[in-house]
Amino acid sequence: MTLDPCERCEELLQEFLDRTLTDAEWREAESHLAGCDYCRRRYRFEETLRRYVKLSAVERMPPGLMSKLEELRGLDAMA
Ligand SMILES: [Zn+2]
Repeated sequence: MTLDPCERCEELLQEFLDRTLTDAEWREAESHLAGCDYCRRRYRFEETLRRYVKLSAVERMPPGLMSKLEELRGLDAMA
């Protein structure tokens, strides 16, 4: 069974951000991100989201921020 490379990349994305990939998976994800705009945008979005979540854990999360982010995520997925 061959997995769509973008689906595979999505699978790796969370671990990629957690820095818990093996070297081989890391290279796989990196080389895919280098050639795929769609996944690069997803990656950047997830990274930004994480930064927000981390910040808001220390400070206070502005009301409605989470739903706004969810909205953005939905839009991004459709692009
Ligand atoms: Zn891709």
